[in-house]
Amino acid sequence: MNWNRMVQMMAGAALAMAASFPVAAQVAPAAAPGIPLNPSPIGDTSAIAKEAQSWLRDLIKINTTNPPGNEQIAAMYIAGILAKEGIKAEILDLTPGRSAVAARLRSTAMADPSKALLLVAHMDVVGVEKSKWTVDPFAAVEKDGYLYGRGAIDDKGMLAANLAAFIALKRANPRLNRDVIFLATADEEQFGDASVKILIAKYWDKFAAGFALNEGGEVLLKNGKVQYVAVQASEKVPVNVTVIARGTSGHASMPTKDNAVVHLTAAVAKIGNYSAPVHFTTIVRRYFEQLAAIEDDEIGKWMRSLDTPDRGEHAQKVVSDANPLWNSMLRDSIAPTMLTAGVRANVIPGEARANLNIRLLPGDTVDALLAELTKLVNDPQIRFEIQPDAGLAAPPSSLENDFYATITKVAGREFSNAPVLPFQSTGATDSAQLRLHNVQAYGFTPFPLTEEDLRRMHGDDERIRLASFIKGVDVLARVIAEFVVAR
Ligand SMILES: [Zn+2]
Repeated sequence: MNWNRMVQMMAGAALAMAASFPVAAQVAPAAAPGIPLNPSPIGDTSAIAKEAQSWLRDLIKINTTNPPGNEQIAAMYIAGILAKEGIKAEILDLTPGRSAVAARLRSTAMADPSKALLLVAHMDVVGVEKSKWTVDPFAAVEKDGYLYGRGAIDDKGMLAANLAAFIALKRANPRLNRDVIFLATADEEQFGDASVKILIAKYWDKFAAGFALNEGGEVLLKNGKVQYVAVQASEKVPVNVTVIARGTSGHASMPTKDNAVVHLTAAVAKIGNYSAPVHFTTIVRRYFEQLAAIEDDEIGKWMRSLDTPDRGEHAQKVVSDANPLWNSMLRDSIAPTMLTAGVRANVIPGEARANLNIRLLPGDTVDALLAELTKLVNDPQIRFEIQPDAGLAAPPSSLENDFYATITKVAGREFSNAPVLPFQSTGATDSAQLRLHNVQAYGFTPFPLTEEDLRRMHGDDERIRLASFIKGVDVLARVIAEFVVAR
């Protein structure tokens, strides 16, 4: 079915079309009569969004806490759903019990991979502190209009929404101008030997694409209204560094000046109070320029002054102090996260260690930052050791191509003309690895979420408002259809 014919059908034969919908759609609340304001090239998604809710519930119940992940079970579940739609999915095995799953809607027999659109979401979730949850994190409890569960937002919500949009496209069967590929990845949260990096190395030809949609952005809901849509086009680079203090071990009854614990804690205190210099990237500059227009006058004024010669320095301080996210978007950040020292209460240990979780701006290097920290700490008993699990800096995705323009246009329109801002996330996603393979990847998590709900990701009582999920499925499907349906 092509786009023009679809519009004619909607105008002329809405009833006939309704009759062809599955039963669930017909019992769902009726849409307003007449031509919908913004007809989607793949029609009404409310019925499939309901189905996707049940997939999301099932996915939450499949415990994919990483480690160990066990994503293969989720991959098989997804392959089963796709099979029912007549879509053959491929299980891509990574390590025992851990697999990804990929499926493709073809545009032509010999499609151009550089044009293909990849829909990515990860199947694994972070662990839970079960005692701090008010519900079972793996029971998919529905309460007060919310669905609770680990992964409800990150990232099983996106996974179910991608699946819904992909299947909606298959059912509508429009002529496609490019291949559309569904991909569910493993090991996103640990970035270990079942991660997207390994997946790309082993199976790139199964999902090679020029464009991708993934998690990483946000649709911020405040006072019941979407404030803005942030589309992630770049991300900071995670690096762990161990701070090691060495001293003389001995009996605690005779303290020494070179106690490793004392030297370590002094170094960590200095590092914790250090603020790296501000470096602007194109995306961060654009983000603050556009955000300034919707923030209140006071902070908006400082956002506009961030890069000015006279007031820049003060503006950077005001904006950084106002929000830890903004602070981290402007500079390399360092968070001390772990301390280890000592074997007995009455023994001075010869060594003490701390972990620094560093998030570098994409253009910055850890060596340059450590050179600064070495000067700052100024202690020959302290050394730094870069851990091998560092992420890789990727070039940002373009803000000038048709896909970014489509996301901006459709998301803005569907969220009542909310501004759409480019975003450089402080957290890492699978998109960095894709960008390193020339994929124009964008983080577009389409669910309107409050700041309070966003904070629950990786925290306690993670949940998604069901109305937000349904809206998100609809907007995601519209963005995709707008880009892939041939006109
Ligand atoms: Zn995630």
